[in-house]
Parts: sequence; structure tokens; C-alpha cells
Amino acid sequence: MKVLEEVKPKVATKNLLEIRNLKKYFPIKGGVIQRTTGHVKAVDDISFDIQEGETLGIVGESGSGKSTLGRVILRLLSATDGTITFDGNNLTHLKERELRNYRKDMQIIFQDPFSSLNSKMNVYELIEEALVIQTKLAKPERKKKVEAIVEKVGLRIEDLQKYPHEFSGGQRQRISIARALVNNPKFVVCDEPVSALDVSIQAQVLNLMMDLQDELGLTYLFIAHDLSVVKHISDRIIVMYLGRVAEIAPKNNLYDNPKHPYTQALLDSVSVVDRGENRVPEREKIVLKGTMPSPANPPSGCAFRTRCPFAFDRCSQERPELTEVEPGHFAACHLHTGVKDPVSKLVQYS
Ligand code: SF4
Repeated sequence: MKVLEEVKPKVATKNLLEIRNLKKYFPIKGGVIQRTTGHVKAVDDISFDIQEGETLGIVGESGSGKSTLGRVILRLLSATDGTITFDGNNLTHLKERELRNYRKDMQIIFQDPFSSLNSKMNVYELIEEALVIQTKLAKPERKKKVEAIVEKVGLRIEDLQKYPHEFSGGQRQRISIARALVNNPKFVVCDEPVSALDVSIQAQVLNLMMDLQDELGLTYLFIAHDLSVVKHISDRIIVMYLGRVAEIAPKNNLYDNPKHPYTQALLDSVSVVDRGENRVPEREKIVLKGTMPSPANPPSGCAFRTRCPFAFDRCSQERPELTEVEPGHFAACHLHTGVKDPVSKLVQYS
């Protein structure tokens, strides 16, 4: 098996995906006439690019908006505002019929392979279905493609006649991966694809996904709640909190020298082995207390201020903008925006 760290960094060439000021607000209805009384701001003004061949990890607690973001990008949910540009085409307002041209290039792998696979269909039918819906290929060509992808994901031709319940969790996720990749997509949203698997199986599936990325030239948006999982597969990582980007950085910068208190807290909650080896050690450990506030009623100013040990007056009054604190490393925190000596704030706290 390939050692995870041996996978060479991919050389990115151009932006495959450009997300600008993306918002997804869900209306809250109330009263007899079901009037809109407010909004759940699941995705709140997010911008980033993904380069061709890159894996961009997205991390955050449950309720941070990361899965909603993945679905809005794929246009499985409509955006409230902002733009989604894929391979130079603005998809934001395309009708379903127009979107069909892009559907086969943009796929998703779900967290739970058991509920996402129809238990009444055998493996062949499950994988072939994607070709039937999205292509005009004749039956013999479809068969060739199904058999080729099944072997690529490490299943056997004889498995094609079996049903999902006859497989282990790891094998079922291989079926989901085959289904997502049979159409040669360019971009795949991986929505916690290994979270439901045993730890011993997670590395196998991650290795498989990285091998397939190299072989097929895929670009991944990899969503996880666990920083130790995204570390292995990502080139860059976004940390999300309450629908917003808290920090975005190349993988090693994020693990070795996190800038946002929320990222620091997430890293402090995972074992030292999973942290960066060259991390900056001179700071107090942050223990993440309490729960995330409701996205229907986010705190004023910085969304993290109700749990942040460094919060000061400005944090409740002004929303921190995402600021480049080092080349390619951005954080949305007032400790890094306009405070002359951010270190003194940290020292003050400890
Ligand atoms: Fe903490 Fe203030 Fe930074 Fe928000 S802006 S993370 S509350 S220090």
C-alpha cells in the first residue's frame, strides 16, 4: 500500500472552480400564514478558487455549513447570492436542462454509502445508472466502462452481480466512488467519504482516492469534520465556522502555524501525532468550550467570539475580514487585522 505522505504534491495549472461571495440562506417560516421570520445563514459570503488537480479540504464542526457549501457548488441546492464559475462557465443561474451539460463533469461521493446506494439494484445497475442518465452510450460501451471502473476501484468483475448489503462499509464506498467516477468527471465533491468507516479502512479508501486522482486527473473538494483526515489528502485547507471562512492556507502552514483561534482549538483537540511536526509550540492550548451558536442567530461581529478566549471589544462590533497574514495564508480574525501587536494579545491571555 502506498504510504500517504509519499504522494507527490500536484502541480496546479489553472482555476477549475471560482466561487465568489457565495451565500445560501434558508428561510425560517412561522405563524399561521407561514411568513418568513428570519434566515438560517448556512453559507455566508464565501469566496475561493480551486485549481485543476488540487484537493481543497474543508473542515468544520457539524453545522458549520460545509456540506451545504458542497451542494450549492454542485447546484444540488440553489445559491441565494454570489457566483459559481466552473471551467470558465458561470453555472449560478443555469436552468436544470442547461446544467445537464455539466452534471457529468461534477460529481459527489456521500458519507454513508449504505443509504446513498439503492439496495434493490446490483452493483452493475448502480454504476451503469450514471451512464444511462448522463450519456447516450450504447449498452456494450456502458458495459466496458462499468467493468473498467470497477477494476480501478479494487472490486472484481464477479462483484457486479452482488447487492450493496453483501459488501463491507469500505467496499460499499468503493462502489460509490466507481459510480461517481464512471463518467470521467473533472471535479468531485467528497462529502465526508471516510467518516462512517473504521479507522483501519479509512487509510485504504483515502489512498485509493489519491491514486485515482493522479491517474484520472481529478480535482477534489474534500469535506470532513476531522483535521487529521483532511491532512493526508489536501493541498490547501479551508476552516469554516458558522457559514463563514475562518482560515484558508496551504496544508503545512495551517497545521504548523495556525492563525485563527478556532483552527488552533481544532488542532489542539486532535492528537499530537496528527499535528504538524514543525508546529509553533509557544502558545497556550485552547480548549473549545460550549457549542456553536445557531446560524439563524449568529453573534454580531466575529461569529466565533462567544467561544474565543481572545475576544475583545472590537470582536463584537465588527466582522473580521479574511486577511492575508502570510503569502497564501488568510485568516478572519481581528488579532491579525489592524491590531499593531497581535502577539501581546496572546501573551495577555496566557
Ligand atoms: Fe477571537 Fe476576536 Fe479573532 Fe474572533 S476576531 S477569533 S473573537 S480574537
